Formats: sequence, structure tokens, C-alpha cells
Amino acid sequence: MAEKLFVKIQEKDNVAIALRDLPKGTEILPGVVTRQDIPQAHKIALTDIPKDGEVYRYGVVLGTVIEDTPAGTWINEHSLHLPERPGLDNMAWGTNIVPKDQLPDPPRTTWMGYRNAEGPAGTRNMLGIVTTVQCTAGVLKKAVQRMKQELLPKYPNVDDIVAVTHPYGCGVAINAPNAFLPIRAVRNLIHHPNFGGEIMVVGLGCEKLSYDRVLTPEENIPENVLTLQDWPGHDAMMNALMEMADRKLQKLNKRTREELPLSDLLIGMQCGGSDAFSGVTANPSAGYASDMIVKGGGTVMFSEVTEFRDGVHMLAARCLDQEARDKLAAEVGWYDNYLDEGGVDRDANPTPGNHAGGLSNIVEKAMGSIAKSGTSPIVQVIGPAEKPAKKGLICACTPASDIVCGPSQVASGIGLQVFMTGRGTPYGLEISPVIKVCSRNEMKDHWFDMIDISAGPVATGEKTIAEVGTEIFNMILDVASGVKQPFSDQYGFHNDMCIFNPAPIT
Ligand code: CA
Repeated sequence: MAEKLFVKIQEKDNVAIALRDLPKGTEILPGVVTRQDIPQAHKIALTDIPKDGEVYRYGVVLGTVIEDTPAGTWINEHSLHLPERPGLDNMAWGTNIVPKDQLPDPPRTTWMGYRNAEGPAGTRNMLGIVTTVQCTAGVLKKAVQRMKQELLPKYPNVDDIVAVTHPYGCGVAINAPNAFLPIRAVRNLIHHPNFGGEIMVVGLGCEKLSYDRVLTPEENIPENVLTLQDWPGHDAMMNALMEMADRKLQKLNKRTREELPLSDLLIGMQCGGSDAFSGVTANPSAGYASDMIVKGGGTVMFSEVTEFRDGVHMLAARCLDQEARDKLAAEVGWYDNYLDEGGVDRDANPTPGNHAGGLSNIVEKAMGSIAKSGTSPIVQVIGPAEKPAKKGLICACTPASDIVCGPSQVASGIGLQVFMTGRGTPYGLEISPVIKVCSRNEMKDHWFDMIDISAGPVATGEKTIAEVGTEIFNMILDVASGVKQPFSDQYGFHNDMCIFNPAPIT
């Protein structure tokens, strides 16, 4: 059999991506010869495309070519004009609803988690100590080091102690219109399912983000909050933190895992460091796993507004009701204004790494990014760090930046995240385990002990999307159940909680 040299996705496509580096002069189709050296993952014109002619990949227009482009030409970010962004008014909804019986059956229907009084179950049993202002972070981090050494060994049912520090809380315009976004993130982080309802909030004492903004009156009691300015000096302060943590750990140690249905599971999907294979291998495989979880009654969140902006009408078509469509239009419209006010548009998103990986513009990136949502109907659209109220596929309208999307989804309550990458990133989250899926075999060979699953065999035809999707599904359940640890947790590679703050800093 002749070696497979490129991947074409839809019949309509007039470009394909190179499966490996293809030297100039390689015949890829009868009569079509590469006119330059084409790097792996980059696009090749399969037909002659006249100046201003449309370039199709995934069956959609990525843009128009700036000059006459004969078959065999390398097409990259310098070759294309960007199309207009799709409008948000009166988007058709409910026109592409895949019935539940057409979604793939999950091979397992239960997992082992920590049941909570309400909301999704926990995938870990942790003491989460959340700050109301960055001023306390240095003290808290030191205290948590001591807690892990002196207290954690006494409580074998508790997995970890986490200092949840973030940049918000003071020196901010606390009543600015968008301030509700970071405040909601802090409030929902305190109530994360992995913290089991045990509240420990550490403040300084003079900050704008007062306890009553993040806790209910019933929660805002001395047992749950500790104010550093109340304590005379270092030793008293540290002892107070240790004693409070000890009381919380005693309660958390009573929690145990139990067999739970998939309907108690909430997970997130994200991608980063994407390449042109991401939308062919890793993201559709993750989408397959997502469809299995949704079919089993579970909840999956996908995000990254800038990266689905050019396919927003495709998502509207998958909205189950008008309310979801309207919220989608409102959230995406808010984001358009946010970028407009910053003097940029959505095409500011692709990175040098994305370009090197063959992604020419945001349209191409969007089509790949959307694939991780699978095919399920969208039951609810939520804003950044909002908690979902429904079960099924949720569109959470967060920024696409990995380090901001992650904390937003954590605040929304995800028990773990599946992260697809083409170029590679050591990214991880301390509160919710992160499973890393790469798009190419070369990435897995390179970072063999940092990438959990390779979707590369989909590109070479050695495995199907269903096979890799099932592998991802099984790993999701194993990690959620505490049976497996992804590499990011084995090494303790954890990013900071960079919560989204579009409101003014004063
Ligand atoms: Ca991202």
C-alpha cells in the first residue's frame, strides 16, 4: 500500500494537511506535486485556486487566497484573507439535534466518587483553603506546607490540602459592572465539589472582597473564616491556621468513595498549543468520549469563546432550546465587545505555535476546537465560572487562554479536565486532575512521560476515533475514581488560579 501522505477531511475540501514533512517535488496525487517543502500538519492546495478563491477545510471556508494558488502550493497564515465573523442575531437553534440513541454507548456506567449534599460528586477529597485577597497568599502557602507535613499524614482519607490563591480581592473596583465575574469565581471555588462542603476562607482584614460577598450568612461564621490581622504575630497566626485546618481535616477524613452513576460526574474539556491535527485526531476523540458521558447521563463542559466564535452558528443549531441560544448570543456578544474595546479581534488568538503547527487563522482553529464538544445537543450555556444547572453538554463561555479557561471551569465545578494539545504543554490544575491527550505520535514520542494518551494513531489510520475516544473515556473514569493519576498530578505540575477579571484594577 502506498504511504498515506496527507489528511483530507470533507469531500468539498480543496486543501489537505501533510501527515509528515513533505519535500518539494513529492507527488501527493496523480499530477499534483508539492511546489515547496511542506512542514508536517501544514496545508497543501489539492486543486488550482484562483486569486480571491475560497479555501475549504472541514467543508467550511477558512478564507480566500491572496494570490493565484496552483495545486501543490503550501498554504499558511500568509496566504489567506480572513472571512467576516458570523452574525449573532436570530441564529437558528435546534436544527441539528442528534437524538440520544445515536450517541455512542458508554462501556461503563458507574464510577467511584465522593458524594456531596448537592451538585456533582467529588473526584478527590481535599481541604481547599481559599483566600479573599492575594495579600494573604505568602502566609497561606507556608502554612499549607506545614499542614501537609504535620497534619495530612494523620488523615488517610484526605487526598491533599490546597492553597487556593488568586490575584483578586483588593486594589480593585469591587462594584464595577464586571466585578461580579471574579467574585463569582472565588465564591464558586470555595464551594468546589472536591472540597466536600468544608469551608476555610482566609482574609487579611482590610480588603474589598469581604466574606459576605463570597459566603452566605449561614456560612460566614468564625468556624469557617480566619482573618490574619486578628492574630498577634507569626506564631499565633500559624497556630490558628493549623488548628482550623486540623478541625476541617477531621471532618473530611470521614468521607469515602462510593459507587456513583455517571449523572454525578461533571468534567471539562479544553485544548491548547493546538496544531492542524488537533481537529482531526485529539479533539474528535475527546468529543467521542464526551458523547459517551452525556449518553450515560453525565455532564461535560466545553469552553473557549474566541476559538468557537467562527462556528457559533453551528453551536446555536445544537442548542436544545431558545434560552440556550439567547444566552449563547449574549455571552459571545459580550466577548466581541470586550475584544473590540481592547482594539483586537478574534484572530488575535492564534499563537506562533499554532501557526507553526499549520493553523493558518482563527477559523481553522475554531473548526478543530469545536470538535471536542462531540455531537450532543447543548442543554445549557453559562458564563465564566458559573455553575451549570442542567446535566448534559454545557457550553461555558470562558476565554480560550489555557491558564484562564482552566480556573474558570474549576470554579464551575469540574471534577477533572481533558486537555488536548498538538505542540505540548505541561499544564495542570491542582484542584481537578488534568488528562493530557496529544494530536500526533511525534508529540507522544517527544513527551512520552508527560502525555497520557496519543490520538496520533487516528491520523495514520492505525486506530479509529471511536477506539481513542473509548480509551479517553476509560481514563476519565479511572482518574475520576482515583484509580489512576495523570502525569501532571504524578509530577505535581500545577498552574496558578488565574481567575478571569475584566473589571478595573484601581
Ligand atoms: Ca485553551
